[in-house]
Amino acid sequence: FVTIKNAAKSYGKLEVLKDINLTVERGQIVAIIGPSGSGKSTLLRAINELDPLSSGEVWLEDVQINKKLPHRQYEAHVNQVRQNIGMVFQHFNLFPHLTVRGNITLAPRMLKGLSEDAANKLAEEQLAKVGLLEKVDEYPSRLSGGQKQRVAIARALAMEPKVMLFDEATSALDPELVEEVNLVMKQLAEEHMTMIIVTHEMDFAASVCDRVLFMDQGVVVEEGPPSVIFKNPEHERTRNFLRKHL
Ligand code: ATP
Ligand code: MG
Repeated sequence: FVTIKNAAKSYGKLEVLKDINLTVERGQIVAIIGPSGSGKSTLLRAINELDPLSSGEVWLEDVQINKKLPHRQYEAHVNQVRQNIGMVFQHFNLFPHLTVRGNITLAPRMLKGLSEDAANKLAEEQLAKVGLLEKVDEYPSRLSGGQKQRVAIARALAMEPKVMLFDEATSALDPELVEEVNLVMKQLAEEHMTMIIVTHEMDFAASVCDRVLFMDQGVVVEEGPPSVIFKNPEHERTRNFLRKHL
């Protein structure tokens, strides 16, 4: 469903990703773990062309996301494919001058041409799902971190994406706010949303994900079901990392 082939990425001499291969099936939930600087965010951001690869391929179903195209066509192509990929960042990235409703309806109206009524209906559905319907007319500055992140998730879901990418969605939150965001992600998992989740929360990864990838220094050191990666990892590097994080 999502396929990454021989992905490599360098910033100057620094090789950040080295020959990464990954296939995520429809409905699968994959966690990416690993030390700071190992390339987790770079890999995630390569999937929606925020950080294009130096070489290799990224596919969503039968569409190559990082296709080489003349500039104009490339822009149109990337705008198109990004509509199918929801992304949630560590720092919410809500538009501060728009209400919750404005944040959620913007992309469906601008990119999908939805009418105001249709976009409002969609926004309210998604907000109800994350338990925040009563905040529809609030501005982001008046929400807690956990609420902001749930709005960010609702905003991504309003585009009805085929896959959701999460980059440490809970790591900027106060501990007591983490659970409400994790619950929303668990609910998405139960609905079989395809998800790729970069996380430092090993318990969450173990309870929600089908597969775990351990990255270090730009390579996937090992991958497997949580029961194997967390309980019986093969590589010393994985064991070392887990010793510090479990
Ligand atoms: P963290 O857990 O701290 O978020 P990460 O695994 O997400 O780390 P990346 O953000 O993917 O790591 O970074 C991987 C490497 O690439 C790091 O060494 C980082 O310094 C480098 N890097 C990332 N973005 C750039 C950039 N725009 N220019 C130069 N180097 C970069
Ligand atoms: Mg990162």
